[in-house]
Amino acid sequence: MRQIQFTRTGGPDVLELVETELPPPAAGEVRIANRAIGVNFIDIYFRTGLYPAELPGGMGFEGAGVIASVGPDVTEFEVGDRVAYVLGPRGAYADEVNRPTDVVVALPDAIDYETAAAGLLKGLTVQYLLHQTFAATAGHKILFHAAAGGVGLIACQWARALGVYVIGTVSTEDKAETARQHGAWQTIDYTRESVPERVLELTDGRGVPVVYDSVGKATWTDSLKCLQKRGLMVSFGNASGPVEGVNLAELNRRGSLFVTRPSLGDYADTRTRYESMVADLFGVIASGDVHIPIGQRFDLADAAAAQQALADRHTTGSTILLP
Ligand code: NDP
Repeated sequence: MRQIQFTRTGGPDVLELVETELPPPAAGEVRIANRAIGVNFIDIYFRTGLYPAELPGGMGFEGAGVIASVGPDVTEFEVGDRVAYVLGPRGAYADEVNRPTDVVVALPDAIDYETAAAGLLKGLTVQYLLHQTFAATAGHKILFHAAAGGVGLIACQWARALGVYVIGTVSTEDKAETARQHGAWQTIDYTRESVPERVLELTDGRGVPVVYDSVGKATWTDSLKCLQKRGLMVSFGNASGPVEGVNLAELNRRGSLFVTRPSLGDYADTRTRYESMVADLFGVIASGDVHIPIGQRFDLADAAAAQQALADRHTTGSTILLP
């Protein structure tokens, strides 16, 4: 099978396409012939070494395809089933993978492979951010950074369906337009406008009850300035670099703020919770409330170019690889 591997951390050029032998699926595993593979910003954190990775290793966490074979003791799935997976071991950038059945979900007919690969990790993230980390409900005004990105465009749509007003940050006018088309109530260009000033204007001086910040280092301080008293700062990513040196006194000074640094794996940490979150996501896709926008498609062999585009802020919506 063909797989993207890396033997050292660094720029996109460390990603290599290699031919390797995939062992037969072990007990409790299935082999999936990928039809589409999701590209996520977390892949870049592993490639650059921000998140530690055992090397040499594969890249990527999610994909969708057809069950090609099943390991001993597998009863939940059969050859030919349409499935998707996330949260398993790294190595999804490949034409075939073995995955434990715990992380595999059956695809309803209404959800095609590309939608599943583009939307599972990002959509489950939005599920827990809007429903579990903070319960966003009709009338709330929230600040969501990188609103035109993969997670961002799903969040804009899902929030709109809940009656939530998204103030979305973006870096260009085209991205602003895209975010608004997907349901953002207002957009702020954080490369040239003051985010706290605009947020205070848009909330009659009150600030927002929650900020969803996946940009990290570059936006941390301004995000805190946008919160109401006792507001919640949800720092869920590091696209601009990790947040370091958090000063608790600052949280106090800015109004008894709360902070959390969540991960999908801690919310979908049991099969029951994972299935319930997937059902919620597939439900909003089936109802039409959320469409998973795929802004970029690359061949598997061009994984480096896909990651480069994502890291360089040239993408909107989700990016997938096609094996
Ligand atoms: P995106 O498609 O959102 O891409 C990242 C976006 O961040 C860019 O398009 C860009 O938008 C913005 N950005 C701001 N500053 C920078 C910078 N210095 N370098 C690069 N991008 C920057 O990626 P994903 O949808 O894959 O992921 C979004 C974020 O959510 C990531 O930080 C990811 O790690 C995080 N995440 C966290 C999860 C969790 O459970 N904790 C799960 C899934 C994702 P613009 O040009 O408009 O500024």
